[in-house]
Amino acid sequence: MTDSRPVVTRFAPSPTGYLHIGGARTALFNWLYARGRGGKFLLRIEDTDRARSTPEATEAILKGLTWLGLDWDGAPVSQFEGRERHAEVARQMLDNGSAYKCFSTQDEIETFRETARAEGRSTLFLSPWRDADPSTYPDAPFVIRLRAPREGQTVVRDAVQGDVVFGNDQLDDMILLRSDGTPTYMHAVVVDDHDMGVTHIIRGDDHLTNAARQQQVYQGMGWDVPVFAHIPLIHGQDGKKLSKRHGAVGLHEYATAGYPAAAMRNYLARLGWSHGDDELFDDAQAMEWFDLSGIGKAPARLDFKKLEHVSG
Ligand code: GLU
Repeated sequence: MTDSRPVVTRFAPSPTGYLHIGGARTALFNWLYARGRGGKFLLRIEDTDRARSTPEATEAILKGLTWLGLDWDGAPVSQFEGRERHAEVARQMLDNGSAYKCFSTQDEIETFRETARAEGRSTLFLSPWRDADPSTYPDAPFVIRLRAPREGQTVVRDAVQGDVVFGNDQLDDMILLRSDGTPTYMHAVVVDDHDMGVTHIIRGDDHLTNAARQQQVYQGMGWDVPVFAHIPLIHGQDGKKLSKRHGAVGLHEYATAGYPAAAMRNYLARLGWSHGDDELFDDAQAMEWFDLSGIGKAPARLDFKKLEHVSG
């Protein structure tokens, strides 16, 4: 994982709601990591899901980051705007053999799954088109699928989780490009991270399985795989995934309540990352100290009582 390239990190929120504490912490970690190493911190708005993405959410996220004092380099990148480029890469993968055209219809796939379920077999769909002779291709809509390795394992070398091993027989040939020519989110992420020169991907560990599949796309294109660091999600005091029922989880709620942003940065920095016994530190210290090895493997628990003290 030694990498001599200048550090480039990114925060890549989906604009489907306000900036919550978990997202703010992810952004902060990426910002600290880049800023402490003279690197770049980029922002990408993952607005490929047109039905769920709204301009209001994008605005709320930018506002939240600005309040928190996290400045990003360059203009925010819109993932949706890159759809032509995503399609181009999928076609390059067809050409180099790391992807293939699949003509199976939704109905066929559903029927396959139902039968497999009924017979107690794996419902992992393996396309019959994977090794088909192009001369047998019908004149019909197709999706472009990744030709994932079927044998062996895919190992994600994660800077927080260690080596995470996935059996390749558990990963299907994911779709890169849909039949209407639009890219899937999983494919777009890889193309964007590569094109933006991202060297370190620090994000929630709910994306860990995605990393295994995304890594296969990097490999298909012969691209360098960035360093992955998947941070455990934040939990409430009851050990359950943080949600509204635990208390205020929207960053704007703290902003409007008059919490000092610097104290909030300090609090969020310690949510899952530690530096010895140090509890209070300023930005310069945080930038100097922040590293991936200080991120814990166990989910941080958000303590609203402590958070209240932040304002005092
Ligand atoms: N857009 C994703 C999310 O908001 C993040 C994807 C990523 O960081 O790779 O959960």
